[in-house]
Amino acid sequence: MRRWSELAERVAATTRTSEKTGLLAEYLRSLDPADLPTAAVFLTGRAFAETDQRATGLGWATMATAIGAVAGVDRETLREAYDRFSDLGLAVEDVLVRVGHEPDPAISPTLREVSAAFEAIERASGPAAKAEILRPLLARCDPRTARGVVKVLSGDLRIGLREGLVEAALAKAFDRPIDDVKRAGMLTGDVGRTALLARDDVLASAGLTLFHPLKFMLASPAENAEEIVRRLGPLVWVEDKYDGIRAQLHKRDDVVRLYSRDLHDVSAGYPEVVEAARALPWDGVLDGELLGMRDGVVLPFVALQARLGRKKPPPELLADVPVVYVAFDLLGLGPGRGAPVQPTLDRPLEERRRLLASMELPLVGAGGAFALSRLASAGSAEALEMAFAEARARRNEGLLVKDPRSPYTPGRRGYGWLKMKKALATIDCVVVGVEVGHGKRHGVLSDYTFAVRDETNDRLVTIGKAYSGLTDAEIAAMTRWFEDHTISRHGRYRVVEPTVVVEVAFDVILRSARHKSGFALRFPRIARLRPDKAASDADTLATVERLFEELQPGAERLVTAAARVSAAPPVGTTASLALKVRRAARTDG
Ligand code: AMP
Repeated sequence: MRRWSELAERVAATTRTSEKTGLLAEYLRSLDPADLPTAAVFLTGRAFAETDQRATGLGWATMATAIGAVAGVDRETLREAYDRFSDLGLAVEDVLVRVGHEPDPAISPTLREVSAAFEAIERASGPAAKAEILRPLLARCDPRTARGVVKVLSGDLRIGLREGLVEAALAKAFDRPIDDVKRAGMLTGDVGRTALLARDDVLASAGLTLFHPLKFMLASPAENAEEIVRRLGPLVWVEDKYDGIRAQLHKRDDVVRLYSRDLHDVSAGYPEVVEAARALPWDGVLDGELLGMRDGVVLPFVALQARLGRKKPPPELLADVPVVYVAFDLLGLGPGRGAPVQPTLDRPLEERRRLLASMELPLVGAGGAFALSRLASAGSAEALEMAFAEARARRNEGLLVKDPRSPYTPGRRGYGWLKMKKALATIDCVVVGVEVGHGKRHGVLSDYTFAVRDETNDRLVTIGKAYSGLTDAEIAAMTRWFEDHTISRHGRYRVVEPTVVVEVAFDVILRSARHKSGFALRFPRIARLRPDKAASDADTLATVERLFEELQPGAERLVTAAARVSAAPPVGTTASLALKVRRAARTDG
């Protein structure tokens, strides 16, 4: 583990990507196959592989308890060190150096021992039990090794080395084509497994494994219709952007499972969909959105929220908020039940959709629990704006604009899919600081400072501050969460663990030196919490730069088109629009 920590430090100290890749490649090539997967996964800033459902469940407070016990310092000393470095790994190293922590190098833990300790921490229940495993592990580490261990553990606090860089290093280390490594990476969702496949020269054997969820393909935000058509056109596909819950459906024989965006098995929460899929005459993997629908009418997201996170919904809730599965993509298909499932990911969307449309699905219209996303095509910016207005009139959030030639790229936010939503842009940000509010919000932490991801420098950079536009109940729950996850306090302001993602609406992006990102938002307001997203899903500085460019000329036309719809919503379609308008009104100013 000491060698891993030294390597990570050298990589971090180099700014040139080619040098980083070179250092990593040399290191990865030198490893024993038993250590290679662990080293590769740790290098992406994770204790477990991305598609592994496990997490250590260690919060800042628990880590601080263990570190404090090893170093013999109090919480305040650690907080001060954290404030100096804004990095828990560096803070721990500093504290341990200052107290002269120098264990015998012979007992320094190996990568395998660290990995085994992480697994034990995951299995232990409760913070005290977890801290009791972390403490002796850290006690065996010299300061530099401890820094590495803590950096991996706080992977959700900071963004680790990007997966792309580790994949490039694997390609270089074992002299394999980068595209082969990337493809295997997308299919396995596990950089450790990919590392072994690259080493053994069997990357092509990476396949789709049923009941191992693939990462979801993501969409990049875009607002300007002309720009979208220029980028994806001349002919683009447009689908309604449903305001539901993303889910991947896996089926083999009569076993059906649904996975959430964060790759957890949520099947038990949606029994009507699971039941409806069981008897179908195919095996395969679908991508789609769970939507609340009663008597053919789509229910607003607030209704569906009652089902979110419910492991066993009671019969009344099932009757009140029935859910259907709106399929929009096909990731793998077997010709019949029990036949091997072939991945369809690499085929163009056009072909995947044709296959999807030919599959037997019990559709809502015929009393089933499935639907296909509404699909149309647009050949000009005007047609796209019209489609956007129509999608809004159907009570949907906006559009997903897709390139019919594009493959399905798991985990990538590329330009194959663009999302066009609401009259004004929104970006997903990570809350990094909170303050108590004013007036009726004086007792609660309702003012949030938020940040986007600067991928180039592997850090979070602030972009704005907004009074929360959440409900009182949400603010109360978030206040408790932030109190438990405060890293340090500076008067009214608290630095918090950067894990909460919020969707922030704004009017205009401005260049500004006020925030670290170099940008500020005019009239920012928190549109909603995004518990389905992790910090690594937040939007990037590059996206903000692009939106800044795009939102300049031409954007008004889109806004005007959507504003017309909001001003005169057709009868019977007002629920979700009204909700959004109310939210915006409450948080403006
Ligand atoms: P956002 O959640 O704002 O990042 O927007 C992307 C999300 O829109 C996806 O993750 C899906 O959950 C959702 N979505 C709704 N309708 C569609 C659709 N037709 N195609 C793809 N994604 C969709």
